[in-house]
Amino acid sequence: MPIQLTNICRWRLYDYFDGHSQLRVNDTYHRYQVLMTRLNILRSYQSASSGATRSVTNTMLVWDTGASIGLTPFRSDFIDYLPLDGVTVKDIARTNAVLGIGTIMWKLPTTKGHAVFIPAVAYHMPDCDIHLFSPQSYFNLHGGDATVTACSVEMRLPDTHVVDIPFDPTVNLPVIHCPQPTLEEQDKFGPHLLSSVVANTLNVTGLAKPICCKTVADVTNNNLTGPQRELIQWHSKLCINMHHVQELMRDRHYKIPNSDDLVLPPILFTKNATARSCSVPRCLACGLSTQKLRSPNVKTSRAKPAKDGILKFNQYEPGDKVFTDQFVVHTPGRHLDGYGREGPERSFHGGTLYSDAASNLVYVECQTSLGAGETVMGKERFEQMCWNLAGVTIKN
Ligand SMILES: [Zn+2]
Repeated sequence: MPIQLTNICRWRLYDYFDGHSQLRVNDTYHRYQVLMTRLNILRSYQSASSGATRSVTNTMLVWDTGASIGLTPFRSDFIDYLPLDGVTVKDIARTNAVLGIGTIMWKLPTTKGHAVFIPAVAYHMPDCDIHLFSPQSYFNLHGGDATVTACSVEMRLPDTHVVDIPFDPTVNLPVIHCPQPTLEEQDKFGPHLLSSVVANTLNVTGLAKPICCKTVADVTNNNLTGPQRELIQWHSKLCINMHHVQELMRDRHYKIPNSDDLVLPPILFTKNATARSCSVPRCLACGLSTQKLRSPNVKTSRAKPAKDGILKFNQYEPGDKVFTDQFVVHTPGRHLDGYGREGPERSFHGGTLYSDAASNLVYVECQTSLGAGETVMGKERFEQMCWNLAGVTIKN
């Protein structure tokens, strides 16, 4: 299949209209003209290279400050990958699905003659036909800078390497023709680049829209009614008690001797009529500020040294006396055999502890239930173990 030039054009269009919200009208027209010129150039490039098929090896990489993030059609370009669901990027003709985001390792030729590998963040979009490299997002993460001259872009990497990217005469764009490292190179250098990405605290959310943390009074909070929401907003704005806020929302009645009552309108006019009488919602800040120290009935006990070890008194031989107790664990525990698929009801929920008075041996028997049947069977196992291990019979 020959390269769909229309698709390339579409991506140039997308980049141009990416910042549409900030464009002025005459600015837009000028940019549109420039864009059409570039489209024509691209089209001629396409006809010149007709017959070529789109593949990992012949898809060029465009150094493009118009791209806010890199772009690739190939999953195999990524050295780490996070699938994305429901993310789309709109261009003029249609909406394109983004399947994932990740780090791509590009192989760039330096002026010293050898290649360097740099990590770049990119979207995986199978519908696009070129690779885009977003220099500003790379410089933001890793440092470095670039100079654009008449015939090339000189890109200085943070480790003083210089990459010279010539303008392709047919498209008049800075293009690197074979930016893909081989699979062996990906395996060899990829892990080093990944660690550098982590070191730069790259996170996916940081690449998307900035997050605005919501307040309790947000319209999406279903726990509040409309009047309560309005009340809590006034409370946050005025920083006074919500009951007082409600008083300010009511009519003011004044008694005047020897005359009718004087009624003045409320100080705060509300959108919701019931904001003045609704039940007062809880406010986190107020709750924290009105906390009080409580001293519940705590008893402290101290062991008497004279009675220490009284239960073990006169128990000289192993097996003379064994103490037991049971314990309950609320987190279900996996059985020691099997594959952990028994489900929460049939997992361990507790067990029995056995402690020998003379030898201080402690033995734990895990149990699914703490009923008599399983406990007796556990006791049997403990006694059998004592006999097998040391020839001891449990007497008491
Ligand atoms: Zn408050």
